[in-house]
Amino acid sequence: MKNIYGFTREMLEEYFIEKNEKKFKALQVFEWLYIHKENLENWTNIKKEIREQIKKDFSFTMPKIVKCERDTLTRKYLFELEDANHIEAVIMYHDYGISICVSSQVGCNMGCAFCESGRLKKVRNLETYEMVSQILLIEEDIKERISSVVIMGIGEPLDNYENVMHFIKIINDAKALAIGIRHITLSTSGIVPKIKKLMQENIQINLAISLHAPNDTLRSKLMKVNEVYNISQLIDAIKEYIAHTNRRVTIEYVMLKGINDSEENACELASLLRGMNIYVNLIPYNETNHIEFKKSEKQVISKFCETLKSKGINVTIRKEFGSKISAACGQLRSKEVEK
Ligand code: SAH
Ligand code: SF4
Repeated sequence: MKNIYGFTREMLEEYFIEKNEKKFKALQVFEWLYIHKENLENWTNIKKEIREQIKKDFSFTMPKIVKCERDTLTRKYLFELEDANHIEAVIMYHDYGISICVSSQVGCNMGCAFCESGRLKKVRNLETYEMVSQILLIEEDIKERISSVVIMGIGEPLDNYENVMHFIKIINDAKALAIGIRHITLSTSGIVPKIKKLMQENIQINLAISLHAPNDTLRSKLMKVNEVYNISQLIDAIKEYIAHTNRRVTIEYVMLKGINDSEENACELASLLRGMNIYVNLIPYNETNHIEFKKSEKQVISKFCETLKSKGINVTIRKEFGSKISAACGQLRSKEVEK
């Protein structure tokens, strides 16, 4: 049985058309699910027989929140899925609203050397409803609306392409969660053919690319994916994406002490990115217990940032949120798995 929270409005329309019903029923269902948040029995503008049919055809279950760690400006949630796997989501309070970082897979197969989610390998893709539920359940818990979404939790979203696209459609739908398309960011380690496919969707989401190194030798040491799609293929794909979508792309660069944080690395990065409509987001590394990488010193990050600026690159340093509550990608789940 398919979970109803995994259906886009178009998919529900198809369902109703197949049942010889008017397709606007899909809109009504969306309003009940996402706006009124009522149980099926109370869907008063939908006939009893149709409600019975819906009950037979769909499941309405959701994962469970099993843990929540709080800090002043962050909360991190651990979810238990129906097959007892665990995933996590983090929310952050900003002056402009609340953002959420959602997971897209249980574990990750990309195997980046510095990442906790990659250390534990992929178990499976998340279903669309399991991604939508992360937002619904947290909004219910905090009794507030989430205004922006980053797909930067556990997993490689472009390795779960279809479910992630359906997720984006549902949360962006004005009759569902109504999260503005420009308030949705997808982060990828750089699966080149999928970036090109995403470009063809013609949606105005923000794309963030995990680059993390300015040359192939170094990037291949940090990210296995570089052996399949190297930097020049990746940069070409990003250029194509920018030209096609007319959107600025974010380049993520995690600052690893003594690995990719030298003056020389900064210069090489600047020349690699020169002239592109991008901005660089320098990410202070969140240290984990199992992986020996260390975070770069604050002064080193500032200097790296200044070097990029002086070479005309737009750059910001990511505000550090929740390192106390193991908020880095995959850390809470990894504690749970190890138990
Ligand atoms: N798989 C996607 C999205 C999830 S990871 C990707 O790799 O882009 C989201 C971001 O967090 C990536 O840029 C990743 O490199 C970074 N990251 C992973 N582990 C981290 C850690 N311990 N500290 C800081 N950033 C980390
Ligand atoms: Fe996967 Fe992203 Fe972690 Fe790499 S950084 S292992 S792609 S989750």
